Amino acid sequence: MLLQGKVAVITGAARARGIGRATAELFARHGARVAILDLPAEAPEQAAGEIGPAHIGIGCDVRDKASCQAAIDRVLESVGQIDILVNNAGITQRRATVDITPEDYDAVTDVSLRGTLQMSQCVIPQMQSRGGGAIVCVSSLSALQGGGVFGGPHYCAAKAGVLGLARAMAKELGPHNIRVNAVAPGLTLTDFSRGGTSDEAKHAAAKAYPLGRVGKPSEIAGVCLFLASELSSYVTGATIDVNGGAFIH
Ligand code: NAD
Repeated sequence: MLLQGKVAVITGAARARGIGRATAELFARHGARVAILDLPAEAPEQAAGEIGPAHIGIGCDVRDKASCQAAIDRVLESVGQIDILVNNAGITQRRATVDITPEDYDAVTDVSLRGTLQMSQCVIPQMQSRGGGAIVCVSSLSALQGGGVFGGPHYCAAKAGVLGLARAMAKELGPHNIRVNAVAPGLTLTDFSRGGTSDEAKHAAAKAYPLGRVGKPSEIAGVCLFLASELSSYVTGATIDVNGGAFIH
């Protein structure tokens, strides 16, 4: 029970096979009350209910600052505190550099990078007044190795931006006892590519990795749990690779 008495907000956590959902389930098993924030179309209330009655689901678009603030206000009204934020929401697109339109750039960057900034901005004042907290930002292997399986260059740039943002927040917020870290997942078996890459293709691609297989959402969730809990009390500004050895640097 590593998160007993804690409240965790997790963005993009409604999808059944997603990393955010697996993280919400693991945090709940470790005693946390979880707030699942996701687009209304993904039915975040239902997702929270499936984890248990103590948890809440709130429709939220992380691209919209007012939506982020309204969701955080609702969490604080109903449970009174926020100890942990996991910035997990993200979308991807496959594109060649010259094909990225301004709309593509905005779509991808606004969810991952602007969303991470805005949600952190909404949560930080409360963490400061409570005397601390932990923020985990979900980046990607593609930010580190210049491309992954799903994402175009704009996705890689947005996820690299998340790493820079996480490190800068770690420096700024350390004196407030707020730790900020990042996890960089490699290929993970979720519905992230929305059918763009089949499960079979992912299994085949992962055969070449040192661990010889694709990652499970629960394996990313385990690292989020480490970074959210007191097990990592002296870790801030770090990026933890979770990629089966696909990229060792
Ligand atoms: P997923 O599609 O299951 O999860 C992404 C979630 O973000 C969805 O629930 C979606 O509804 C939500 N979301 C999208 N736009 C949003 C918005 N504007 N506001 C709020 N929520 C929004 O896919 P996943 O694989 O679980 O992805 C989770 C995170 O992991 C993403 O940030 C992704 O970039 C990252 N990641 C995934 C992989 C992988 O191989 N699956 C690899 C590296 C990084």
